Amino acid sequence: MKGQNFMTSNRSTKTIKKALKKKPAKPTQAEAEDAVRTLIRWAGDDSDREGLRDTPKRVTKSYLEFFKGYEQEPKEILSRTFKDVEGYDEMIVLRDINFNSYCEHHMVPFSGRAHVAYIPGDKVVGISKLARLVDVYAKRLQIQEKLTAQIASTLNEVLKPRGVAVVVEATHMCMTTRGVQKHGTVMQTSQLHGLFKSDHRTRQEFFSLLKVAHFNTSPR
Ligand SMILES: [Zn+2]
Repeated sequence: MKGQNFMTSNRSTKTIKKALKKKPAKPTQAEAEDAVRTLIRWAGDDSDREGLRDTPKRVTKSYLEFFKGYEQEPKEILSRTFKDVEGYDEMIVLRDINFNSYCEHHMVPFSGRAHVAYIPGDKVVGISKLARLVDVYAKRLQIQEKLTAQIASTLNEVLKPRGVAVVVEATHMCMTTRGVQKHGTVMQTSQLHGLFKSDHRTRQEFFSLLKVAHFNTSPR
């Protein structure tokens, strides 16, 4: 990275970091389509043959859908909260939130389910918002660990609940179709905050709820 070896004051280091963080300009539609043609040729095919002629257009259009999450601000999704909950202060669990995401190392899909739980402080959020939050982070280039952590920390920051737990289970195409080619392998990640981390009974309750759910609904 440029500038890394220079001696700089704290302030100018910050400025440099900020400048480096700035997103590069978005390519034009034509540039994006050209890039797809290049990859088709890289795969070994003729990007001009009939069956592939409209593929660059379709791929760039699909990307708008696959990576919709970049257009959305995750914290905004949780901005509408409810305080009138009649003193409800127990665990809220939304399980089996299906998602599709793209591995940032290989740009191939990984998909699975997320389970999100929190113990409210003084406010709760509409349950569909939890699913939308998963989607916003899933529809970006991701690794499963980061996806899990981002969902948990956003909930923690915005709702300020007494605890947050997120479990993600997914199969990765980069593992099933290339490299070691292990089919049916499921990766599981979890991120815990607050009571889920500090109180083992809370944690146990959550994981046993998920386990029960598994036995009841999963065809495995
Ligand atoms: Zn990968």
